[in-house]
Amino acid sequence: MINLRSDTVTQPSQEMRSFIAKAPVGDDAYGEDKSVNRLQDYCKELFCVEDALFVTSGMLSNRLAILSQTSPGDEVVLDYNYHINFFDSAAAASVCNVLLNNRFTEDGILTVEEVDKALNSKPRYHYFSQLKLVSIENTINGWVGKIFPFEQIKRLRRYTHEKGMAFHLDGARLFNAHIETGIALSDYADQVDTLSVCFSKGLCAPFGSVIMGRKEIIEKARKFRMWLGSGVHQIGFQAAAALYAIEHNISSLKKDHELTQVLKYRLQSVFDLTLHPNSGDTNMIQFSLEKCMINSDKFIELCEERGVQFFSWLPGIIRAVIHNGVSEKDIHQAADIIQDVVHKYSKKEVG
Ligand SMILES: *Cc1c(COP(=O)(O)O)cnc(C)c1O
Repeated sequence: MINLRSDTVTQPSQEMRSFIAKAPVGDDAYGEDKSVNRLQDYCKELFCVEDALFVTSGMLSNRLAILSQTSPGDEVVLDYNYHINFFDSAAAASVCNVLLNNRFTEDGILTVEEVDKALNSKPRYHYFSQLKLVSIENTINGWVGKIFPFEQIKRLRRYTHEKGMAFHLDGARLFNAHIETGIALSDYADQVDTLSVCFSKGLCAPFGSVIMGRKEIIEKARKFRMWLGSGVHQIGFQAAAALYAIEHNISSLKKDHELTQVLKYRLQSVFDLTLHPNSGDTNMIQFSLEKCMINSDKFIELCEERGVQFFSWLPGIIRAVIHNGVSEKDIHQAADIIQDVVHKYSKKEVG
């Protein structure tokens, strides 16, 4: 089965498995897990940040970024498509006690102008909700792996600093942006107050995320991690996998991007398929079935019968994510299957 549902489906390699098996561990609740400490120190150096905290997931990183930089009733501004809203708005409301001020931007890029519009959309008397945090994403999952332009990040940095707002970057796939743009990870980190990255996406570790930033913010995140019951003990096995991933697997993302180009090229010539314009920006493809006589569930079922799995992003919208477990042969096979299913249900042929 060719699994293009997400890059979270990646499997740890044999080398990663032996590295995990040999990892020294200790009780992380006492700060005594050597593998966790080694990973956090590695991240501090790589990103040039004061502090780094290993946590169970990217979703937890985002929650900790919100909790450490807001108070109940505060507002967080972001684009509605960003993960914090699209997948995790219930936790923002129920766990973080904040309001998400969602902006419906045209292209997924939250600009200074848009944040300023959000700020000035109503008075901000002392008893009103206060806009305390601006959150962006890079690459942007909901915009098919689009890269957030660095110039816009720099503008937001200046603006948020001036207005006394905190600035968070959800960098679950920041490594994909880094490998594509050549912009140093530390340059990205330098622009924001907090930054999170995921090891369990294209980097192929089974688990985990780090949240990074200044000491006083990460100290708060450490407290909230405990409050959420995610202070874990011999977690070094997982940290070792993450360390292996960040040391060895960043450069292989380039290959994922190249294979995504191959799939894009193949699908461009499939009659009746509408490709999202950001397809192929990094490691994702999205297409719409609007011109076909088939809904996403049926499409996914037929493709799965033929040997390839996709994720239904929205009704009629299919997403494919390319990762380390996919070969060039798989890409061509997936393209053949898509073409076959789409042609069977083409309006032209049916009508
Ligand atoms: C996957 C993802 C997350 C969540 O990561 P998990 O480790 O699966 O919880 C957060 N933000 C973005 C942009 C993601 O793509």
